[in-house]
Amino acid sequence: MIYLIMQRTKDKRFKKDYSKEDILDYLKGVYKILKKSPTYRDLNNFPGPSPRTIVRRFGFWSTALKQAGIRPHTYQLIKGEPSFIRKNWRNMSDKEIAHKLGVQSYVIRYYRMNFNLWKNRKGTARSTFRKEALRIYGSQCEVCGLGICEWHHIIPKSKDPKHWCILCPLCHEVITRKLVVIKNRKELRTKLLPFIKELYTKLRIN
Ligand SMILES: [Zn+2]
Repeated sequence: MIYLIMQRTKDKRFKKDYSKEDILDYLKGVYKILKKSPTYRDLNNFPGPSPRTIVRRFGFWSTALKQAGIRPHTYQLIKGEPSFIRKNWRNMSDKEIAHKLGVQSYVIRYYRMNFNLWKNRKGTARSTFRKEALRIYGSQCEVCGLGICEWHHIIPKSKDPKHWCILCPLCHEVITRKLVVIKNRKELRTKLLPFIKELYTKLRIN
């Protein structure tokens, strides 16, 4: 890299066809000096291949940086990192992965959200209780029989299956908005069912 700079400074008319490897080495060198990923404008004041040359060679500025192993922006992931997240997202927390890759943890969270790698509120990927609830009470609404189901806690945060039920979004919303108050599973039949029946009879679809 220093050799290239020397040539450039000696004779300004000197023109060299930089190979891709030359440019990548050059970018790595600049990265070491600046201690941040170099921008297009940064390179305008640097000896060596001009930023225009680099863009012409690689198509995009960020492509060149990524190939040199430099993160173009603090929120972007480079080659190999997405696969690392996909391998480890279940076992490691977002913070641990972020620390290992050297990014902020929200970058990892956004990646997971984009690719439907869901975790629950505690940050663990396990949903064993939900599966158990579905196994016990089936995957249909217990009140109206609709196939779209949500898992409702009659007593919040309870781990006892007696306090769970499977409901459709509408029946669930009726309870969470406190249109009907329910204290145990029996009241699903006695209180919620009449309310839902009435609701559906009032419903008019033209
Ligand atoms: Zn329902």
